[in-house]
Amino acid sequence: MIVLVINSGSSSLKYQIFDMKEEQLLAKGLVDRIGISGSSLTHQPLNKEALVVKEDIENHNQAIELTVKALTHQQQGVIKEMNEIDAIGHRVAHGGDRFADSTVISDEVSNKIAMLFDVAPLHNPPALMGIEACARMLPKVTQVAVFDTAFHQSIPEKAYIYALPYEISKKYSLRRYGFHGTSHKYVAQKAAEFLQKDISALKLITCHLGNGASIAAVNGGKSVDTSMGFTPLEGLVMGTRVGDIDPASLLFLMEKENMNIEEMNSFLNKKCGVLGISGLSSDFRDLEEAAKNGEHRCQLALDIFAYRVKKYIGAYSAVMNGVDGIIFTAGLGENSPTIRQAITEDLGYLGAELDHEKNNRRGEKEISKQGSRCKILVIPTNEELMIARDTFRLVKTS
Ligand code: ADP
Repeated sequence: MIVLVINSGSSSLKYQIFDMKEEQLLAKGLVDRIGISGSSLTHQPLNKEALVVKEDIENHNQAIELTVKALTHQQQGVIKEMNEIDAIGHRVAHGGDRFADSTVISDEVSNKIAMLFDVAPLHNPPALMGIEACARMLPKVTQVAVFDTAFHQSIPEKAYIYALPYEISKKYSLRRYGFHGTSHKYVAQKAAEFLQKDISALKLITCHLGNGASIAAVNGGKSVDTSMGFTPLEGLVMGTRVGDIDPASLLFLMEKENMNIEEMNSFLNKKCGVLGISGLSSDFRDLEEAAKNGEHRCQLALDIFAYRVKKYIGAYSAVMNGVDGIIFTAGLGENSPTIRQAITEDLGYLGAELDHEKNNRRGEKEISKQGSRCKILVIPTNEELMIARDTFRLVKTS
């Protein structure tokens, strides 16, 4: 079965295409600057030269048309004709409390995704544009929505209800949803495979550390708590997002700096995090370099970032009454020994002991010392494969 995976943003569309017989990636690509001048498509087939198309791409319909053209291209294509595509899986950021699993897309599902525009104004509208564009171009192909929030729907009420008046929480469905669910689920499953243990018997803490960062407590394969909340702004310190903060300080700042709601929202999402603390960059490579050269604010940003992750590890160990594995994933989690060391230093009380040599070796999966009671693992995430797997599973059984 051939599965196309689509991750549709407001001005970009990423895709990957898999042959699910061997879970083999055939090609991936990016349509960039949709509706903006200078738009292009870059198509990278496996073991073949890339195809780059530079032309005006006005909207998501054109982006999908161009994607299908690239996939069926005479030289750089990976399928002969578009009806070889058996199913399409879409990444959808917000499923609210309506979707606890991936689902085959119907008109009703599309309507529900649209009803969540209010809580995910940046992410759900482009996802629906991608879905509608595929439906127009490939009307006979089954489409599946895979939600970033779905994995966290198992979180108990005591962990997802905020201390607001209960009727207000209910009126606006204002609660913790959590994000990066596809990634947390994927690495938790991979960790169980690696440890050769049944996931139902494992207490895991998964740390997805990229530009956006979140952490999850996964008990017996189910998410029981996570750091992102109603939106992806809560929790860890991120590249440019503030994470946990006293809500009163926002009111204070709005008054002092004369900011309106829109300005405050943009400030909290784009100007804070390690960028705000360091004043230099949101990229951890820049910060690590500058910290080595003695830049205090860059070192401080790294320290604060690691400290916050460490605090959550302590909290989630308490929530689960112990932890068998701490898993690092995403750009920073997979690639920065420095950050992993700063986070896992002094976790002896959990029985987690970092092996410094292994931590510094690229490609090592287990980076804890032999005999460490709690394993520390580095597992590259693969959200697209997870979306393809869910799509395959649902189409097979539908
Ligand atoms: P997102 O998907 O949220 O945009 P990624 O998972 O791609 O983010 O992670 C991107 C971040 O990973 C970059 O901001 C960078 O700081 C960090 N990163 C990538 N490689 C390294 C590295 N070798 N050392 C330190 N940080 C790295």
